[in-house]
Amino acid sequence: MDYELSDAHKLIRDTARRIAREKVAPRAAGLDESGEYPDDIFGVFAEAGLLGLTIPEQYGGSGAGFLALALAVEEVAKYCNSSALILLLSALSTQPINLGGSDEQKREWLPRSAAGAVKGAFCLTEPNTGSDAASLESRARRDGDDYAIDGEKVYISGGSVAHYVCFFARTAEGAGGGGVADGAGAISAFIVPTESPGFSVPRCDRKMGVIGVPTANIVLADCRVPAANRIGDEGSGFKTAMLTLNTCRPVVGARGLGLAEGAIAYALDFARQRQTFGKPLVDHQAIQFMLADAAIGIEAARHLVYYGAHLVDQGKYQREHAPHLSIAKTFATELANKVASDAIQILGAQGYMKDHPLERHYRDARQLMIVEGTSQIQRLVIARAMIKGELAYW
Ligand SMILES: Cc1cc2nc3c(=O)[nH]c(=O)nc-3n(C[C@H](O)[C@H](O)[C@H](O)COP(=O)(O)OP(=O)(O)OC[C@H]3O[C@@H](n4cnc5c(N)ncnc54)[C@H](O)[C@@H]3O)c2cc1C
Repeated sequence: MDYELSDAHKLIRDTARRIAREKVAPRAAGLDESGEYPDDIFGVFAEAGLLGLTIPEQYGGSGAGFLALALAVEEVAKYCNSSALILLLSALSTQPINLGGSDEQKREWLPRSAAGAVKGAFCLTEPNTGSDAASLESRARRDGDDYAIDGEKVYISGGSVAHYVCFFARTAEGAGGGGVADGAGAISAFIVPTESPGFSVPRCDRKMGVIGVPTANIVLADCRVPAANRIGDEGSGFKTAMLTLNTCRPVVGARGLGLAEGAIAYALDFARQRQTFGKPLVDHQAIQFMLADAAIGIEAARHLVYYGAHLVDQGKYQREHAPHLSIAKTFATELANKVASDAIQILGAQGYMKDHPLERHYRDARQLMIVEGTSQIQRLVIARAMIKGELAYW
Protein backbone atom coordinates (compact mmCIF):
# COMPACT_ATOMS: atom_id res chain seq x y z
CA MET A 1 0.00 0.00 0.00
CA ASP A 2 1.46 3.34 -1.08
CA TYR A 3 0.55 6.22 1.23
CA GLU A 4 2.41 8.84 -0.83
CA LEU A 5 0.54 11.10 -3.21
CA SER A 6 1.89 11.07 -6.75
CA ASP A 7 3.79 14.12 -8.03
CA ALA A 8 0.81 14.95 -10.24
CA HIS A 9 -1.52 14.91 -7.25
CA LYS A 10 0.89 17.05 -5.22
CA LEU A 11 1.05 19.58 -8.03
CA ILE A 12 -2.75 19.88 -8.15
CA ARG A 13 -2.91 20.16 -4.35
CA ASP A 14 -0.24 22.86 -4.32
CA THR A 15 -1.94 24.79 -7.11
CA ALA A 16 -5.24 24.67 -5.23
CA ARG A 17 -3.47 25.66 -1.99
CA ARG A 18 -1.98 28.74 -3.63
CA ILE A 19 -5.31 29.75 -5.20
CA ALA A 20 -7.09 29.14 -1.91
CA ARG A 21 -4.71 31.42 -0.01
CA GLU A 22 -4.35 34.16 -2.60
CA LYS A 23 -7.77 34.31 -4.28
CA VAL A 24 -10.34 32.48 -2.20
CA ALA A 25 -9.46 33.43 1.38
CA PRO A 26 -9.78 37.21 0.83
CA ARG A 27 -13.25 36.73 -0.70
CA ALA A 28 -14.71 34.23 1.79
CA ALA A 29 -16.28 36.60 4.34
CA GLY A 30 -17.63 38.87 1.59
CA LEU A 31 -19.38 36.00 -0.19
CA ASP A 32 -20.98 35.00 3.07
CA GLU A 33 -22.27 38.56 3.53
CA SER A 34 -23.43 39.29 -0.02
CA GLY A 35 -24.64 35.88 -1.20
CA GLU A 36 -23.50 36.80 -4.69
CA TYR A 37 -22.20 33.95 -6.80
CA PRO A 38 -18.43 34.50 -7.24
CA ASP A 39 -17.90 34.47 -10.99
CA ASP A 40 -14.33 35.66 -10.38
CA ILE A 41 -13.47 32.58 -8.32
CA PHE A 42 -15.21 30.31 -10.83
CA GLY A 43 -12.99 31.94 -13.48
CA VAL A 44 -9.83 31.40 -11.45
CA PHE A 45 -10.71 27.72 -11.01
CA ALA A 46 -11.39 27.40 -14.74
CA GLU A 47 -8.08 29.02 -15.67
CA ALA A 48 -6.18 26.67 -13.36
CA GLY A 49 -7.87 23.61 -14.87
CA LEU A 50 -9.61 22.76 -11.59
CA LEU A 51 -13.07 22.49 -13.18
CA GLY A 52 -12.04 19.65 -15.47
CA LEU A 53 -10.28 17.34 -13.04
CA THR A 54 -12.90 14.60 -13.32
CA ILE A 55 -13.56 15.11 -17.02
CA PRO A 56 -11.63 12.76 -19.33
CA GLU A 57 -8.88 14.24 -21.49
CA GLN A 58 -10.69 13.35 -24.71
CA TYR A 59 -13.55 15.63 -23.58
CA GLY A 60 -11.44 18.60 -22.62
CA GLY A 61 -10.63 17.84 -19.00
CA SER A 62 -7.40 16.64 -17.45
CA GLY A 63 -8.78 13.28 -16.32
CA ALA A 64 -6.81 13.75 -13.11
CA GLY A 65 -9.65 12.13 -11.20
CA PHE A 66 -11.52 12.24 -7.94
CA LEU A 67 -8.54 12.09 -5.60
CA ALA A 68 -7.20 15.16 -7.39
CA LEU A 69 -10.57 16.88 -6.99
CA ALA A 70 -10.76 15.90 -3.31
CA LEU A 71 -7.30 17.40 -2.73
CA ALA A 72 -8.29 20.65 -4.41
CA VAL A 73 -11.59 20.81 -2.53
CA GLU A 74 -9.82 20.17 0.78
CA GLU A 75 -7.46 23.10 0.21
CA VAL A 76 -10.22 25.50 -0.78
CA ALA A 77 -12.53 24.37 2.05
CA LYS A 78 -9.92 25.44 4.60
CA TYR A 79 -11.02 28.98 3.81
CA CYS A 80 -14.38 28.94 2.05
CA ASN A 81 -16.95 26.19 1.70
CA SER A 82 -18.98 28.06 -0.91
CA SER A 83 -15.93 28.05 -3.17
CA ALA A 84 -15.29 24.39 -2.34
CA LEU A 85 -18.87 23.64 -3.40
CA ILE A 86 -18.21 25.32 -6.76
CA LEU A 87 -15.40 22.83 -7.32
CA LEU A 88 -17.57 19.93 -6.22
CA LEU A 89 -20.36 21.00 -8.58
CA SER A 90 -17.91 20.72 -11.47
CA ALA A 91 -18.15 16.95 -10.87
CA LEU A 92 -21.72 16.60 -9.58
CA SER A 93 -23.17 18.34 -12.64
CA THR A 94 -21.03 16.56 -15.22
CA GLN A 95 -20.94 13.04 -13.78
CA PRO A 96 -24.40 12.04 -15.07
CA ILE A 97 -23.16 12.86 -18.59
CA ASN A 98 -19.74 11.37 -17.97
CA LEU A 99 -21.20 8.12 -16.63
CA GLY A 100 -24.30 7.69 -18.76
CA GLY A 101 -24.13 10.12 -21.67
CA SER A 102 -23.56 9.48 -25.36
CA ASP A 103 -20.37 10.50 -27.11
CA GLU A 104 -22.29 13.36 -28.72
CA GLN A 105 -23.59 14.62 -25.35
CA LYS A 106 -20.10 14.41 -23.88
CA ARG A 107 -18.64 16.37 -26.79
CA GLU A 108 -21.34 19.01 -26.47
CA TRP A 109 -21.21 19.61 -22.69
CA LEU A 110 -18.01 18.33 -21.11
CA PRO A 111 -15.34 20.46 -22.85
CA ARG A 112 -17.30 23.64 -22.14
CA SER A 113 -17.81 22.57 -18.52
CA ALA A 114 -14.10 21.91 -18.09
CA ALA A 115 -13.25 25.29 -19.61
CA GLY A 116 -15.73 27.13 -17.38
CA ALA A 117 -17.76 28.24 -20.40
CA VAL A 118 -20.91 26.66 -18.92
CA LYS A 119 -22.10 25.73 -15.43
CA GLY A 120 -24.35 22.83 -14.64
CA ALA A 121 -26.54 21.69 -11.75
CA PHE A 122 -27.86 18.37 -10.46
CA CYS A 123 -31.65 18.27 -10.08
CA LEU A 124 -32.88 15.32 -8.04
CA THR A 125 -34.60 16.58 -4.86
CA GLU A 126 -38.29 17.53 -4.97
CA PRO A 127 -40.72 19.04 -2.47
CA ASN A 128 -42.09 15.58 -1.57
CA THR A 129 -38.98 13.45 -2.04
CA GLY A 130 -35.50 14.04 -0.69
CA SER A 131 -33.97 10.94 0.86
CA ASP A 132 -36.54 8.75 -0.88
CA ALA A 133 -35.43 9.93 -4.31
CA ALA A 134 -36.82 6.89 -6.09
CA SER A 135 -40.33 8.22 -5.38
CA LEU A 136 -39.75 11.44 -7.29
CA GLU A 137 -42.80 12.85 -9.07
CA SER A 138 -41.46 14.91 -12.00
CA ARG A 139 -42.62 13.47 -15.29
CA ALA A 140 -41.21 13.32 -18.81
CA ARG A 141 -43.57 12.37 -21.61
CA ARG A 142 -42.29 11.35 -25.03
CA ASP A 143 -43.84 13.46 -27.77
CA GLY A 144 -42.44 12.69 -31.21
CA ASP A 145 -38.77 13.66 -31.26
CA ASP A 146 -39.07 15.50 -27.94
CA TYR A 147 -39.78 14.93 -24.30
CA ALA A 148 -42.16 17.27 -22.49
CA ILE A 149 -41.04 17.55 -18.87
CA ASP A 150 -43.08 18.77 -15.91
CA GLY A 151 -41.85 18.95 -12.36
CA GLU A 152 -40.46 20.95 -9.48
CA LYS A 153 -37.02 20.58 -7.91
CA VAL A 154 -35.91 22.18 -4.66
CA TYR A 155 -32.63 23.17 -2.99
CA ILE A 156 -30.65 22.92 -6.23
CA SER A 157 -27.10 24.15 -5.68
CA GLY A 158 -26.12 26.63 -8.35
CA GLY A 159 -29.48 26.14 -10.09
CA SER A 160 -30.01 29.85 -10.69
CA VAL A 161 -26.60 30.38 -12.32
CA ALA A 162 -26.55 27.17 -14.38
CA HIS A 163 -26.56 26.96 -18.17
CA TYR A 164 -27.86 23.38 -18.10
CA VAL A 165 -29.19 20.99 -15.49
CA CYS A 166 -29.20 17.21 -15.25
CA PHE A 167 -32.84 16.62 -14.48
CA PHE A 168 -34.32 13.36 -13.21
CA ALA A 169 -37.93 12.60 -14.13
CA ARG A 170 -40.30 9.65 -14.23
CA THR A 171 -40.86 8.13 -17.68
CA ALA A 172 -42.90 5.18 -16.41
CA GLU A 173 -44.96 4.21 -13.41
CA GLY A 174 -43.71 1.96 -10.67
CA ALA A 175 -40.71 2.04 -8.42
CA GLY A 176 -38.24 4.58 -9.72
CA GLY A 177 -35.32 2.66 -8.45
CA GLY A 178 -36.77 -0.73 -9.28
CA GLY A 179 -34.32 -2.84 -11.19
CA VAL A 180 -31.49 -0.47 -10.45
CA ALA A 181 -29.08 -3.34 -10.83
CA ASP A 182 -30.02 -3.79 -14.49
CA GLY A 183 -30.90 -0.17 -15.10
CA ALA A 184 -34.57 -0.90 -15.77
CA GLY A 185 -36.21 1.60 -13.41
CA ALA A 186 -38.96 4.10 -14.06
CA ILE A 187 -36.76 7.21 -13.89
CA SER A 188 -34.78 8.77 -16.72
CA ALA A 189 -32.16 11.53 -16.77
CA PHE A 190 -32.17 14.51 -19.12
CA ILE A 191 -29.88 17.35 -20.03
CA VAL A 192 -32.06 20.46 -19.89
CA PRO A 193 -30.51 23.73 -21.09
CA THR A 194 -31.79 26.44 -18.77
CA GLU A 195 -32.74 28.62 -21.75
CA SER A 196 -35.37 26.01 -22.74
CA PRO A 197 -38.94 27.37 -22.90
CA GLY A 198 -40.79 26.20 -19.80
CA PHE A 199 -37.71 26.30 -17.57
CA SER A 200 -37.91 28.75 -14.67
CA VAL A 201 -36.27 29.56 -11.34
CA PRO A 202 -39.07 31.05 -9.22
CA ARG A 203 -36.85 31.69 -6.21
CA CYS A 204 -33.64 31.04 -4.34
CA ASP A 205 -33.63 30.02 -0.69
CA ARG A 206 -32.61 32.08 2.30
CA LYS A 207 -30.34 29.74 4.19
CA MET A 208 -27.99 29.22 7.10
CA GLY A 209 -24.63 28.71 5.41
CA VAL A 210 -22.70 28.15 2.17
CA ILE A 211 -24.23 31.46 1.20
CA GLY A 212 -21.96 32.10 -1.80
CA VAL A 213 -23.63 29.41 -3.91
CA PRO A 214 -27.36 29.99 -4.45
CA THR A 215 -29.78 27.18 -3.65
CA ALA A 216 -32.61 27.35 -6.16
CA ASN A 217 -36.14 26.20 -6.67
CA ILE A 218 -36.58 25.02 -10.27
CA VAL A 219 -39.82 24.47 -12.16
CA LEU A 220 -40.25 22.81 -15.53
CA ALA A 221 -43.68 23.37 -17.11
CA ASP A 222 -44.18 21.54 -20.42
CA CYS A 223 -40.46 22.08 -20.92
CA ARG A 224 -39.44 20.50 -24.20
CA VAL A 225 -36.07 18.97 -24.88
CA PRO A 226 -35.02 16.83 -27.84
CA ALA A 227 -35.12 13.09 -27.16
CA ALA A 228 -31.38 13.20 -27.90
CA ASN A 229 -30.99 14.99 -24.53
CA ARG A 230 -32.00 11.89 -22.60
CA ILE A 231 -28.96 10.52 -20.79
CA GLY A 232 -28.71 6.79 -21.43
CA ASP A 233 -31.70 4.49 -21.89
CA GLU A 234 -35.16 5.22 -20.62
CA GLY A 235 -35.29 3.94 -17.06
CA SER A 236 -31.56 4.20 -16.39
CA GLY A 237 -31.79 7.61 -14.69
CA PHE A 238 -32.00 6.48 -11.11
CA LYS A 239 -28.93 4.34 -11.47
CA THR A 240 -27.10 7.27 -13.06
CA ALA A 241 -28.14 9.51 -10.16
CA MET A 242 -27.01 7.02 -7.51
CA LEU A 243 -23.67 6.33 -9.20
CA THR A 244 -23.09 10.08 -9.58
CA LEU A 245 -23.73 10.59 -5.87
CA ASN A 246 -21.47 7.65 -4.99
CA THR A 247 -18.58 9.12 -6.96
CA CYS A 248 -19.00 12.52 -5.32
CA ARG A 249 -19.34 11.33 -1.71
CA PRO A 250 -15.62 11.42 -0.87
CA VAL A 251 -15.53 14.93 -2.34
CA VAL A 252 -18.27 16.07 0.04
CA GLY A 253 -16.09 14.48 2.71
CA ALA A 254 -13.20 16.63 1.47
CA ARG A 255 -15.34 19.74 2.04
CA GLY A 256 -15.67 18.62 5.66
CA LEU A 257 -12.02 17.66 6.00
CA GLY A 258 -10.74 21.00 4.73
CA LEU A 259 -13.22 22.90 6.87
CA ALA A 260 -12.05 21.05 9.99
CA GLU A 261 -8.40 21.75 9.13
CA GLY A 262 -9.02 25.43 8.50
CA ALA A 263 -11.07 25.85 11.67
CA ILE A 264 -8.63 24.19 14.04
CA ALA A 265 -5.58 25.85 12.48
CA TYR A 266 -7.24 29.21 13.05
CA ALA A 267 -8.10 28.30 16.66
CA LEU A 268 -4.54 27.14 17.33
CA ASP A 269 -3.10 30.44 16.09
CA PHE A 270 -5.49 32.26 18.39
CA ALA A 271 -4.73 29.99 21.36
CA ARG A 272 -1.01 30.75 21.07
CA GLN A 273 -1.72 34.47 21.55
CA ARG A 274 -4.56 34.57 24.05
CA GLN A 275 -3.61 34.49 27.74
CA THR A 276 -5.81 33.33 30.63
CA PHE A 277 -4.75 32.75 34.21
CA GLY A 278 -1.29 34.01 33.40
CA LYS A 279 -0.47 31.69 30.53
CA PRO A 280 -1.31 31.16 26.86
CA LEU A 281 -4.45 29.12 26.12
CA VAL A 282 -2.31 26.45 24.45
CA ASP A 283 -0.76 25.69 27.83
CA HIS A 284 -4.10 24.65 29.32
CA GLN A 285 -4.65 20.91 29.06
CA ALA A 286 -8.37 21.23 28.27
CA ILE A 287 -7.47 23.29 25.18
CA GLN A 288 -4.70 20.86 24.23
CA PHE A 289 -7.20 17.98 24.31
CA MET A 290 -9.55 19.78 21.94
CA LEU A 291 -6.62 20.42 19.60
CA ALA A 292 -5.49 16.81 19.79
CA ASP A 293 -8.99 15.42 19.28
CA ALA A 294 -9.30 17.57 16.16
CA ALA A 295 -5.99 16.25 14.83
CA ILE A 296 -7.00 12.64 15.52
CA GLY A 297 -10.24 13.15 13.62
CA ILE A 298 -8.60 15.04 10.76
CA GLU A 299 -5.95 12.40 10.18
CA ALA A 300 -8.59 9.63 10.23
CA ALA A 301 -10.90 11.61 7.93
CA ARG A 302 -8.08 12.29 5.50
CA HIS A 303 -7.37 8.58 5.09
CA LEU A 304 -11.06 7.79 4.59
CA VAL A 305 -11.59 10.59 2.09
CA TYR A 306 -8.46 9.84 0.06
CA TYR A 307 -9.21 6.12 0.09
CA GLY A 308 -12.78 6.73 -1.04
CA ALA A 309 -11.63 9.02 -3.84
CA HIS A 310 -8.98 6.48 -4.80
CA LEU A 311 -11.68 3.78 -5.03
CA VAL A 312 -13.69 6.01 -7.36
CA ASP A 313 -10.60 6.54 -9.52
CA GLN A 314 -10.25 2.75 -9.70
CA GLY A 315 -13.81 2.56 -11.06
CA LYS A 316 -15.06 1.18 -7.74
CA TYR A 317 -18.17 3.23 -7.05
CA GLN A 318 -20.95 0.70 -7.64
CA ARG A 319 -23.33 -0.49 -4.91
CA GLU A 320 -20.83 -2.98 -3.45
CA HIS A 321 -18.30 -0.19 -2.85
CA ALA A 322 -20.86 2.33 -1.61
CA PRO A 323 -20.31 1.70 2.13
CA HIS A 324 -16.72 2.94 1.95
CA LEU A 325 -17.82 6.07 0.12
CA SER A 326 -20.61 6.64 2.66
CA ILE A 327 -18.20 6.13 5.56
CA ALA A 328 -15.83 8.74 4.14
CA LYS A 329 -18.65 11.26 3.69
CA THR A 330 -20.24 10.65 7.07
CA PHE A 331 -17.07 10.65 9.15
CA ALA A 332 -15.52 13.72 7.56
CA THR A 333 -18.68 15.82 7.52
CA GLU A 334 -19.62 14.99 11.12
CA LEU A 335 -16.03 15.70 12.12
CA ALA A 336 -16.30 19.12 10.50
CA ASN A 337 -19.28 19.95 12.71
CA LYS A 338 -17.48 18.83 15.87
CA VAL A 339 -14.24 20.62 15.05
CA ALA A 340 -15.96 23.85 13.99
CA SER A 341 -17.82 23.83 17.30
CA ASP A 342 -14.66 23.13 19.33
CA ALA A 343 -12.75 25.82 17.43
CA ILE A 344 -15.38 28.37 18.45
CA GLN A 345 -15.09 27.12 22.02
CA ILE A 346 -11.34 27.71 21.97
CA LEU A 347 -11.88 31.33 21.00
CA GLY A 348 -14.64 31.81 23.57
CA ALA A 349 -16.90 34.80 22.87
CA GLN A 350 -14.65 35.93 20.04
CA GLY A 351 -15.38 32.67 18.22
CA TYR A 352 -19.06 33.55 18.20
CA MET A 353 -18.43 36.88 16.49
CA LYS A 354 -18.30 37.65 12.79
CA ASP A 355 -14.86 39.20 13.23
CA HIS A 356 -13.54 35.64 12.94
CA PRO A 357 -14.36 33.00 10.30
CA LEU A 358 -15.35 30.26 12.74
CA GLU A 359 -19.05 31.04 13.04
CA ARG A 360 -19.18 30.88 9.22
CA HIS A 361 -17.40 27.52 9.20
CA TYR A 362 -19.86 26.31 11.85
CA ARG A 363 -22.87 27.32 9.73
CA ASP A 364 -21.31 25.93 6.56
CA ALA A 365 -20.46 22.61 8.23
CA ARG A 366 -24.10 22.01 9.08
CA GLN A 367 -25.01 21.72 5.40
CA LEU A 368 -22.60 18.85 4.86
CA MET A 369 -24.53 16.32 6.99
CA ILE A 370 -27.66 16.92 4.87
CA VAL A 371 -26.55 17.21 1.25
CA GLU A 372 -26.01 14.32 -1.16
CA GLY A 373 -27.58 11.87 1.27
CA THR A 374 -28.03 12.70 4.94
CA SER A 375 -25.93 11.09 7.66
CA GLN A 376 -28.89 8.82 8.40
CA ILE A 377 -29.12 7.63 4.80
CA GLN A 378 -25.35 6.97 4.74
CA ARG A 379 -25.78 4.86 7.87
CA LEU A 380 -28.55 2.88 6.15
CA VAL A 381 -26.16 2.12 3.28
CA ILE A 382 -23.43 1.07 5.70
CA ALA A 383 -25.68 -1.02 7.97
CA ARG A 384 -27.34 -2.78 5.03
CA ALA A 385 -23.92 -3.83 3.73
CA MET A 386 -23.03 -5.14 7.19
CA ILE A 387 -26.27 -7.08 7.50
CA LYS A 388 -25.77 -8.62 4.06
CA GLY A 389 -22.23 -9.58 5.00
CA GLU A 390 -20.72 -7.34 2.29
CA LEU A 391 -18.96 -5.28 4.94
CA ALA A 392 -17.72 -8.01 7.24
CA TYR A 393 -15.35 -7.90 10.20
CA TRP A 394 -15.39 -11.53 11.28
C1 LIG B 1 -27.91 23.75 0.92
C2 LIG B 1 -28.44 22.55 0.22
C3 LIG B 1 -28.05 22.27 -1.08
C4 LIG B 1 -28.60 21.19 -1.77
N1 LIG B 1 -28.24 20.96 -3.07
C5 LIG B 1 -28.90 19.98 -3.79
C6 LIG B 1 -28.64 19.82 -5.20
O1 LIG B 1 -27.79 20.50 -5.80
N2 LIG B 1 -29.37 18.89 -5.87
C7 LIG B 1 -30.31 18.12 -5.27
O2 LIG B 1 -30.92 17.32 -5.95
N3 LIG B 1 -30.55 18.25 -3.94
C8 LIG B 1 -29.88 19.16 -3.19
N4 LIG B 1 -30.13 19.31 -1.85
C9 LIG B 1 -31.15 18.47 -1.22
C10 LIG B 1 -30.56 17.37 -0.33
O3 LIG B 1 -29.93 16.40 -1.11
C11 LIG B 1 -31.74 16.82 0.49
O4 LIG B 1 -32.10 17.83 1.40
C12 LIG B 1 -31.38 15.55 1.24
O5 LIG B 1 -31.23 14.48 0.34
C13 LIG B 1 -32.43 15.20 2.28
O6 LIG B 1 -33.70 15.26 1.78
P1 LIG B 1 -34.84 16.08 2.57
O7 LIG B 1 -34.30 17.39 2.93
O8 LIG B 1 -36.08 16.03 1.75
O9 LIG B 1 -35.06 15.30 3.91
P2 LIG B 1 -36.06 14.05 4.15
O10 LIG B 1 -35.78 12.98 3.16
O11 LIG B 1 -37.43 14.53 4.29
O12 LIG B 1 -35.53 13.55 5.58
C14 LIG B 1 -35.81 14.27 6.78
C15 LIG B 1 -35.02 13.64 7.92
O13 LIG B 1 -35.41 12.27 8.07
C16 LIG B 1 -34.29 11.42 7.92
N5 LIG B 1 -34.71 10.23 7.20
C17 LIG B 1 -35.38 10.16 6.03
N6 LIG B 1 -35.60 8.87 5.69
C18 LIG B 1 -35.03 8.12 6.65
C19 LIG B 1 -34.89 6.71 6.87
N7 LIG B 1 -35.35 5.83 5.99
N8 LIG B 1 -34.27 6.29 7.98
C20 LIG B 1 -33.77 7.18 8.87
N9 LIG B 1 -33.85 8.53 8.72
C21 LIG B 1 -34.46 8.98 7.62
C22 LIG B 1 -33.26 12.23 7.14
O14 LIG B 1 -31.95 11.78 7.40
C23 LIG B 1 -33.52 13.62 7.68
O15 LIG B 1 -32.83 13.76 8.90
C24 LIG B 1 -29.54 20.35 -1.12
C25 LIG B 1 -29.89 20.59 0.22
C26 LIG B 1 -29.34 21.68 0.89
C27 LIG B 1 -29.74 21.91 2.31
